[in-house]
Amino acid sequence: MSNNALLRTTTASVWLAMAALAPAPLSAQDAATAAVDTSAAVEAAGWADNVVITLDADDNTFRYQSNGIPSHGFAKKYLIPSDPTNQPFKDKPAEFFKVVTSAEYFKETELDTTITTRPVFVDETTETSLGRIGVALSGAQLFNDYEDMERAVVAQDDQVIHDHVPFLDECNGHTLVNGSDYHYHGIPVCISEATGQPGEHSVMIGVLEDGFPVYSNQGEGGVIVTNADLDACSGHVGVTPEFPKGIYHYHLTADEAPYMIDCYHGEIEVSARGPGAGGRPDFAAVAAQLGVAEVELMNALGTSMPPDFAAAAQALEISEDELRAAMPGPGQ
Ligand SMILES: [Zn+2]
Ligand SMILES: [Zn+2]
Repeated sequence: MSNNALLRTTTASVWLAMAALAPAPLSAQDAATAAVDTSAAVEAAGWADNVVITLDADDNTFRYQSNGIPSHGFAKKYLIPSDPTNQPFKDKPAEFFKVVTSAEYFKETELDTTITTRPVFVDETTETSLGRIGVALSGAQLFNDYEDMERAVVAQDDQVIHDHVPFLDECNGHTLVNGSDYHYHGIPVCISEATGQPGEHSVMIGVLEDGFPVYSNQGEGGVIVTNADLDACSGHVGVTPEFPKGIYHYHLTADEAPYMIDCYHGEIEVSARGPGAGGRPDFAAVAAQLGVAEVELMNALGTSMPPDFAAAAQALEISEDELRAAMPGPGQ
């Protein structure tokens, strides 16, 4: 056994012992700013079989690899809007949607991302962006509440069911309109119901890109957490099953918007969230330059890196050269 593995085992034992003793939690301020190491909790979490978690040698980061397909399965059929820019979808008639069969339509998405296990709470928050904001136990991704920053909150304004076929499934998830990148816009109830215990704080269902853990809406004692209990980033400091001394963590909520996480309260490098060096492209600016809606651009590109520029250009009905020229940095 390497020193590191030994250390990790020791840490895990200490952690379990502390959980059994239910230590007095740190004050909120102390817990928010205390040095955090999530590696033991990340390693012990109930990741699905299609997820590979690799801690780096110093336990500073973990690498998350998955095929993007949620282990809990999905609905047989989904509604795909004929015009993704025409939100909200809630009031749109059945004719507005194409009905697809997920077994034929859904595509695997190679996810490979590295996230810190030493998250740092900072006062200055950072808005979450479209695309992936975190990873879930199921092998799928957490998105924020929007498909388009300017428009509707998905879980609130876009949920629609025609003939028993939903836009968002019972897990608050769906793919991009091209069938890739299955993601959640609200509590992934298929995960939380399988892992949660009545009367107890939810267990960790994933990790946000800033490294802080994410939970569904059961707080201490199983009491339902609402926005009123949380800060603007839908987080608070408290004890959780994995962090009996207390930690800053996020809660997805079910009472009202945003349902998801609108900002990071942890330190995050913009480049860590987006593709390639130089940070995430300004998709709004690229979309404006190309004369397409941001959501169309996002849907065409997907979140796989590198994107399939030929397919994306075709979907956008522009030339591949035009698209590549508009994309900054490594897209060119
Ligand atoms: Zn979506
Ligand atoms: Zn909590």
